[in-house]
Amino acid sequence: MIEINISKLAEEIKKRKAKLVAMQFPDGLKTKAEEIADQIEKETGAKTIVFAEPCFGACDLKDREAKELGADLLLHFGHSALIGNEKLPTIYIEAKYRVNKEKIKKAIKKLEEILKKERIQRVAIGATVQYLEHTKIVSEELEKKGFGVLSGKGEMLASYQVLGCNYSGMEKQADKAQALVFVGDGRFHAIGMGLEFNKKVFIINPSSGTVNTLGLEKEKLVRKRISFIEHAKDAKKFGLLVSTKPGQQNLKKALEIKEELEKKEKKSIIFISENILPEHYIGLGIDVFVNTACPRIALDDESKFNAPVLSIEECEVVIEKKKIEDLFILD
Ligand code: SF4
Repeated sequence: MIEINISKLAEEIKKRKAKLVAMQFPDGLKTKAEEIADQIEKETGAKTIVFAEPCFGACDLKDREAKELGADLLLHFGHSALIGNEKLPTIYIEAKYRVNKEKIKKAIKKLEEILKKERIQRVAIGATVQYLEHTKIVSEELEKKGFGVLSGKGEMLASYQVLGCNYSGMEKQADKAQALVFVGDGRFHAIGMGLEFNKKVFIINPSSGTVNTLGLEKEKLVRKRISFIEHAKDAKKFGLLVSTKPGQQNLKKALEIKEELEKKEKKSIIFISENILPEHYIGLGIDVFVNTACPRIALDDESKFNAPVLSIEECEVVIEKKKIEDLFILD
């Protein structure tokens, strides 16, 4: 259950004297849009508008669009601030999952047993913003049982927080840990953590009370990524994917890659779009795509494209600026 204090939010809207309030929701929260809009309109007298497209992170802020529509305030639900310099006043409502004590205790107990069995005494811990409260509990409980728990804080992030494109808070700690613990749901962030630090990852899901590991998933993924890089070395035509979303736009990098590919006598086309969707690129004869936007595209959606999708770093192996060993530690 997500916790949002709408009355507190309404107070803030009244204080700011906003008349037209734009709202952005991730898919999982959009079902709450009607209830939130109704309560805000009733308590503040302001009108609300809701962006219908899903947003997966604060990288996808609709501040410019909201301003153009005449809104005087943007409410961005589900994520913490990421890019700053918003084009109009913005409130980030992080939407935390309510702590279910039974479930979290059950999951911590399970994790303790697994760690003991695997003789792991020191872990580094990371979480998505919705589960930071749970993460504090996990951390405290593990410490009480004598485990070493390492955590850090990345730039623009809260303590423990990780994003699929930013694990900087764990950088120093991961090296000193025997394993990593991800607190959250889904596997995307846990896979990202495993790839970034090449350590075993335990996933503790406070919503279901379960504990899992990535198992062979990471090894399989690494093998697949390496085969894509090898394929790209012989490829002739590259599609460089650039998103216009403010926190994902990386045209500068795409232009640099284009220049390097030309030196290798490889043709490339830079494609610009807001959402990077596989159907945009059908029938264009592209041998390999290079994704410069959200890393989720190369990891989660890659199979929907009609050619392999490389990350920037993987393409840097193709243009000989990096080596495969710089990206993946091969056992
Ligand atoms: S992982 Fe992707 S969706 Fe999440 S903040 Fe980073 S760029 Fe945005």
